[in-house]
Amino acid sequence: AKYVYLFSEGNASMRNLLGGKGANLAEMTGLGLPVPRGFTVTTEACTRFYNDGKVIAKEIEDEIFATLSKLEEIVGKKFGDPENPLLVSVRSGARVSMPGMMDTILNLGLNDEVVEGLAKLTQNPRFAYDSYRRFIMMFSDVVMGIDRMKFEKLMDEIKEKKGVSADTELDAGDMKTLSERYKELYLKEMGVPFPQDPKVQLIEAVKAVFRSWENPRAVVYRRLNDIPSDWGTAVNVQEMVFGNMGNDSGTGVAFTRDPSTGEKKLYGEFLMNAQGEDVVAGIRTPQPIDVLKEINPDVYNQFVEIAEKLEKHYRDMQDMEFTIEHGKLFMLQTRNGKRTAQAALKIAVDLVNEGMITKEEALLRVDPKQLDTLLHPQFDPKALKAAKPIAKGLAASPGAATGKIYFSAEEAAQAYNAGEKLIILVRLETSPEDIEGMHVSQGILTGRGGMTSHAAVVARGMGKCCVVGCGEIIINEEEGYFIDKNGRRYNKGDWISLDGSTGNVYGEKLPTVAPEMTGYFGTLMKWADEVRVLKVRTNADTPRDAQQALKFGAEGIGLCRTEHMFFDSDRIGAMREMIVARTEEQRRKALEKLLPMQRSDFEELFRVMKGYPVTIRFLDPPLHEFLPKEEEDIQAIAAEMGITAEELKAIITELHEFNPMLGHRGCRLAVSYPEIAEMQTRAVIEAAINVKKEGLNVVPEIMIPLVGDVKELKYVKDVVVKTAEAIIKETGVELEYRVGTMIEVPRAAITADEIAKEAEFFSFGTNDLTQMTFGFSRDDAGKFLEEYYSKKIYEFDPFAKLDQTGVGELIRIAAEKGRKTRANIKMGICGEHGGDPSSIEFCHNVGLDYVSCSPYRVPIARLAAAQAQV
Ligand code: ADP
Ligand code: MG
Ligand code: MG
Repeated sequence: AKYVYLFSEGNASMRNLLGGKGANLAEMTGLGLPVPRGFTVTTEACTRFYNDGKVIAKEIEDEIFATLSKLEEIVGKKFGDPENPLLVSVRSGARVSMPGMMDTILNLGLNDEVVEGLAKLTQNPRFAYDSYRRFIMMFSDVVMGIDRMKFEKLMDEIKEKKGVSADTELDAGDMKTLSERYKELYLKEMGVPFPQDPKVQLIEAVKAVFRSWENPRAVVYRRLNDIPSDWGTAVNVQEMVFGNMGNDSGTGVAFTRDPSTGEKKLYGEFLMNAQGEDVVAGIRTPQPIDVLKEINPDVYNQFVEIAEKLEKHYRDMQDMEFTIEHGKLFMLQTRNGKRTAQAALKIAVDLVNEGMITKEEALLRVDPKQLDTLLHPQFDPKALKAAKPIAKGLAASPGAATGKIYFSAEEAAQAYNAGEKLIILVRLETSPEDIEGMHVSQGILTGRGGMTSHAAVVARGMGKCCVVGCGEIIINEEEGYFIDKNGRRYNKGDWISLDGSTGNVYGEKLPTVAPEMTGYFGTLMKWADEVRVLKVRTNADTPRDAQQALKFGAEGIGLCRTEHMFFDSDRIGAMREMIVARTEEQRRKALEKLLPMQRSDFEELFRVMKGYPVTIRFLDPPLHEFLPKEEEDIQAIAAEMGITAEELKAIITELHEFNPMLGHRGCRLAVSYPEIAEMQTRAVIEAAINVKKEGLNVVPEIMIPLVGDVKELKYVKDVVVKTAEAIIKETGVELEYRVGTMIEVPRAAITADEIAKEAEFFSFGTNDLTQMTFGFSRDDAGKFLEEYYSKKIYEFDPFAKLDQTGVGELIRIAAEKGRKTRANIKMGICGEHGGDPSSIEFCHNVGLDYVSCSPYRVPIARLAAAQAQV
C-alpha cells in the first residue's frame, strides 16, 4: 500500500485517506493557489500504527523519508542543512475537522546548528531564535507531554525582567536566551538533551500526532459528534512559511461569511509578525481583516479573490488559514466553516438563492441537532452579554430558564399551585419522586450527575432546560439554600437563571425571548416538508404541549401518556387511590373520579389537534413513581378509602416491587383490573364523540402498552372493543377508532406476526425496548456507561441513539413480520429516539410511517426525515 502522498498527488475526494486538511491542501494545490508544498501520511498509516502496537513500521518510515527527499528536491532546500535548511510543520488532520482537538508542531528541523545558519541566511537572528524557542516548546509539549505552562513561565520571567508586555518587544538576544532556557528545561524534565537530529524529530512528531488521536479531549469530542474511533488521523508535513519574519509578515484566519450570523461578508482576524496559533491563543489582540486592506492592499485583494474562488469551488462557506511571509500570501488551510444554527440556516438559504446549490443540498447543509438551540426560549442577547455567571455545570438540556429556586419537588409543586409560574428546581440530584417538581419547573439545576443522569434524561424528555453536575455550588437541600463559588448565599425563593446550552448559572433574573420559526428557518422547514415522506408526530400529554408541537409542525400525536395527565396536585390523589385500591369497589370509586378528568383532557386534546391522528396510550404507571410517600398524603388517601393510615401503609409495603420497571405495569394492570381499561376506553370514546359532534373528524388510536404476548393484547382489546361498541351504540354517533399496541418488549417484536392479528398499528417504544434488550435501566445506566465509553465497549448512549444492530434488528424483524400478517399496518416510533437524527434515518429505511418525538424536537425530526429522503 501507498502510505504517503505529495500534495500534488491528492485531491478533495481523497478525504478518507488524506484527512480533511490534507485533501483540501492537495485540492488547493491543484487549483494553483499559493500553498506551501508538502506531503500527507495517510489515515491508513495511523490505523496501521495502532495495529502494530503504536510503532511506525519500517516500510512506512522509509516511504516518509523517500517522500521527504522528493520534497527537498522540489523546494530546493535540505532537511538539517545549516546553509539552506528545510523546515516543516507537522499537522494533524482527520476526515472531519476536530478543531483544536489534536496537535501541530511548527518549525521542525531546527537544531543548534541550523538555527545559526537560518539567522545568517535570513539576516534575521530574532526571527531564527523566535522560531527555535517556539519549536522547542511545541515539541516538548506535543511529543513529550511537558506542561506548556512551564515554558510560558520562563517567557513571562524574561518579559518581566525587561519590563515589556508583548512578545514582539523581545529582541534576538532574548529569544536566544529563551531557547537556551527551554532546552535546559527539556533536559531537566526528560533527563536527555533536546533531540538535534531532524529525522528523529520528524518521526517522533508523526508518532505524537498519531497518538493525539487518542487524547482524552479528542475521544470526548468524537463521542459527542458521532465520529468513529477507528477512522484515525492523517499527518501533514509541510514546508514552513514564516509570519514571524518581521512587520511585513503575519498570519490570520478568515471566513467567507460571518459564522455567527451568516452575513455574506469576509470575516476574520490577523496578527502581523506572528506565527500559527498566536491568533487563537490571544497573546496579542488580533486586528479585524479589513485592516489588512490598509496595511497591504495587494495581499488583501489577492486574499479576497482566493476566498471567493474557494467558496465557489466548494460551494459552501469556507474557514481559511493564511500566512504572509515578506509580503507574499500563502494559504495554509481551507474547510467548510463551522457555524451557529442561525448562520447555518441563512447560509443554506442564501446559497440556494445565489444559485450555488439546490434545495436538496441546502437541506443537507444544516445539522438537525443544531436546530435545538433555536427551539427553546432564549435569553435576551443583550442581557446575557451583560450578565456574569456565578457557576458552571454540564449543559444537559438546552434552553433558557429563569425563576425562583426551590430545593424539593414538594416545595416547587406547592409554589406552582400557589400561582408561581417561574420556578427552578435545585437538587443535589433528582430521582423518580421528583418528577412532579420537575414538571412544574422552568429549569432544573443539580449539583451532581452527568449527561445521562436522571435529571438530564428526564429534562430532555420534557424539553426542559437543565444544568447538571454543577459542583461549583454547595447545595443544602434541608435548609433550602446554596452557596456560589464567591460565597454568596441564595435562599429559597431567590431568582436565578440557567443557560442549558452552555451550563452557565446566573444569580439573577434574566429576560427571555420566545423562539420563532420564521425567516430562513421557516423557509428551510418548508423545503424539508416538500421532500420528506416520513411523517412527524409528537409525544404530548397535555393540550399545551400539543399546541406547541403543532406550531413546530407536528402532524399528530404519536404518544399521549395518560398517567402523565395526573401529575397535577388536584389529581394525583385520585390516581394514588386507584393504585392502592385492594377491592374492585374501591378501584371503581377512584376510577369514577378519574373519568371526567380524562374525558375533558381528551376532548381538549382532540380539539387542539384538529383532526390529526391522536394515539392514546393506556395507563402505564411504574408503581414507585405513584405510590404516596408523605404522611400527609397517606392520611388523606386512607380517609378517602375508609381505612386507617396503618392499613394503607401495609398495602403500600405489600405493593412494593423489587424491580418496578419490570413489575406490575402496562397492560398487566389492565389484565388484573379490566375496569381500568374500561374507564379509559369510556373517556376516549366519549370525548371523541363529543368533539365529533362539534364537527371535527376524530379517529382515536388506543394503544395498549407493554404487550409481550398476543393473548394479553387480545384480552385487553376485547375489553376496549366491548366498551367502545356499547357507547357508540348507545349514543348513535358513528365513530371510527383503532386499537394497536406498543412494541417494547422483545418478545412482542419476535412474535409480531401474531401480535399483528390483533393490533391495527404498532408503535415502537424504544425506551423500554432498549432497556429490556440490553437488560439495564435508563435510570441506572448512567453509573456505568462512562466506563463502557472509556473502555470502548460502547461508543454512544443507546438510550439517546438507537442501537441499530441489536434493538434495530428487533424493529426490522417486527416490521417485516407485522406486514406479513397485516399488509398495510401503520407503524411508528415513540421513544426518545424519535427525535434523534441518525435513528430517524434508520426509521425511514425500515419503512416506518412516522416518528414521534417531544414537541421541541419536531423541527429537528422534520429536517432529519427530509435528509433521510435526499
Ligand atoms: P489546527 O488544526 O489546530 O488548526 P493546524 O495544523 O492548522 O492546526 O496548524 C495551526 C496553525 O499553524 C495554522 O493555522 C498555521 O497558522 C500554522 N501553520 C501550520 N503549518 C504551517 C506552515 N507550513 N507554515 C506556516 N504556518 C503553519
Ligand atoms: Mg488549522
Ligand atoms: Mg414503555
